[in-house]
Formats: sequence, structure tokens, C-alpha cells
Amino acid sequence: MTGNEIEYLRDAHSNRSLAGDGPYTKKCNQWIEKKINCKSALLTHSCTAALEMSALLIDINPGDEVIMPSYTFVSTANAFVLRGGVPVFVDIRYDTLNLNETLIEEAISEKTKAIVPVHYAGVSCEMDRIMNIAKERNLYVIEDAAQGTLASYKGRPLGSIGDLAAYSFHETKNLISGEGGALLINDEKFVSRAEIIREKGTDRSSFHRGEVDKYTWQDVGSSFLPSEIIASFLYAQLECAEEITRDRKKSWDFYHKNLKLLEERGNLRLPIIPQDCEHNGHMYYILVSNADLRDRLIQYLKDKEIYSVFHYIPLHSSPAGKKYCKMHGNLETTNRSSESLVRLPLWKGITLEMQTKVVDCVDSFFKKYA
Ligand SMILES: *Cc1c(COP(=O)(O)O)cnc(C)c1O
Repeated sequence: MTGNEIEYLRDAHSNRSLAGDGPYTKKCNQWIEKKINCKSALLTHSCTAALEMSALLIDINPGDEVIMPSYTFVSTANAFVLRGGVPVFVDIRYDTLNLNETLIEEAISEKTKAIVPVHYAGVSCEMDRIMNIAKERNLYVIEDAAQGTLASYKGRPLGSIGDLAAYSFHETKNLISGEGGALLINDEKFVSRAEIIREKGTDRSSFHRGEVDKYTWQDVGSSFLPSEIIASFLYAQLECAEEITRDRKKSWDFYHKNLKLLEERGNLRLPIIPQDCEHNGHMYYILVSNADLRDRLIQYLKDKEIYSVFHYIPLHSSPAGKKYCKMHGNLETTNRSSESLVRLPLWKGITLEMQTKVVDCVDSFFKKYA
């Protein structure tokens, strides 16, 4: 927490304006628009909701294919599957664990409608190449920037590059409101329909601006907006977004510097940040040589009261992934990363003492067992 959350919540309470699209939601939308320089930003109740809105906006129809990594959270795929779309999984890069842009073109078919790059751990995908492919093949690009707030690619904020982008403010992300998200729109043509889809398919947003004298059902849609309770909390976080990011990056740097020796000894691999990418300290992970070693490391740390986790079970190997999705190639790097990655504890305010303990324990694990 940053300090102002309760004050803004109290203010929203005293305003007696608790439904969506009140003053705090507007402040949050404007903050994002200004910071990211997008045509429009609309708060949603989750990143999942923003991805579902994207699938509606680009008119995903049954059978339409969407290229994405398998190494991601379920919502990246589920949002499109809900509309009958077929995720086509392409392998990830060895260095960033992001969608491998050199494999995208061979996965494109006449059914392909969009590419969904996921900026894993707040490190950008190779967006110039991805945008060029999309332009040549007439495809949409939807950035899953759930982990990418305040990170950038060649100086451009993540979320400002694709046609559409989705942020998450879930409590596990950098900027939080418990549950929460935003849809970022960079192509003007989506703006008015996005407002309608988000407001149960009605033109209520125009009505609030006084553009129509009553609002009615216009299109498909759902309730994708958060209440002012969420937005007021979030606004306190957005005001401190730079500070939160700086703090996390400092903790990230500490791990990176102090685990270097273990990498040099060949015990593990550290994250690789390409020159063009400015990350946001979302996550610190290490890669070990196999699943057995990973499990033993996680247990070893747990015995010392350090909570580390692994992820993701690749979507292509999950029950719903097998049912609804297609694989392109063998996804070798995806499988290998999934078996060898360990996330270390990192949050705003983690102390040097705690981090030192983590580093020491990882070090003693390898001295003992590797
Ligand atoms: C967290 C996350 C989501 C889902 O975010 P919610 O706000 O919980 O819906 C989607 N994609 C990625 C890559 C994520 O990390």
C-alpha cells in the first residue's frame, strides 16, 4: 500500500457515488491516457475483462485463429476461446521467455486474425518485428501487458504499441486494486464501440456526456467496468506508480547482482533483458537445470520459510488447452522454461535483510545439492 488508498476510499464513500464511471474512474482513465499516450483508456474489473473486450472488438468468430504463447496465464487464451476463437501456440524466446517473433509467420494461416504478444515479467516482446508482420498480413495486435505497466520498448510504453492492450491491477501485479484492469485503445476506430461493449451493450457513456437523451441497447456487451470503490483505491496506487516501480527495480537489481556468482558457477541462469527493453521490476526469476532440482529448491526454501513459486503449466498441456487450442511446432523452450523456472519473493518494501536471506539460502542449496 502507498498510504492514500483509505483516504480515497473514504472520499468515494462520502461522494455517494459508488457505481462505475464516477470521478475516480475518470481520474484513473485520464492518468493512463496521459502516461501511456493512448487514444483511450477504460478501467475494467480485470485484465481478463479487457482481453474479452478485445476479442469482441476485433470480432473474433468461431474458427478464427489467434497467435500467442503457451507460456502465459489462462486468460490470454480464454478470452478468445469464449468467442469460438482458436489460440495457436508459438514457442517463446530463450532469453526473455516472450513470444518468439521469428516463428510467427510460419504459424499464420488464412484464418489468423490477431497476434497476442505477452510481455512476460514486464519485459517487452520484439514489437517492431511483430507490428511489421501484423501490418503486412493485415492482422490485429493485442498486447497482453498485464505485467507490463510502466515498462517500455525503445522508449515507448508497453500498452501503447498494439491496436489494443490490456493491463492488470490484480494484487499480484505492480500497481494494484485487488482485482482490476484496463483496456488501452490505440486505434481510434475502436473507441466508441468499446464504451458500448463495456456498458452492457448500451450507449450509457454517451448519455452521461449528454450526447443522447436516453440510453438503449445498441450492441453485444457485458458489464466490464469496476466500481468507484476499486477505482478510488487504484488512483492512490497510480499516483505512486513511479515510486513503486523504482522500488521494485531496486529489489530486482539486488537479486541480479548478488546471484551473478551462482550463474558464473553454472548453478542457474538469470533473466536477460534486451537492450531495447526497459523492464519494471515485476518479477525476479531464476532458471535451474530441471524440474527435479526446481522442486527440491522450492522445498528447501520453504523449509527456511521462504515462499518461492513456479509457473506456468503451459496452456498446450492443460486439459482445456488440449481441447480448444492448436500447437505450432514442438514448443520446446516453453516446456523447458516451465520445468526450470523459480520465482523469488519480490514486492514493494521487501527488505535487504529478507533478500539477503533468500540469496544466502539459494547459495547454500546449490553448495549442498548441486
Ligand atoms: C495476471 C495476468 C492476466 C490476468 O489478469 P487479471 O487482472 O487477474 O484478469 C492475464 N495475462 C497475464 C499475462 C497475466 O499475468
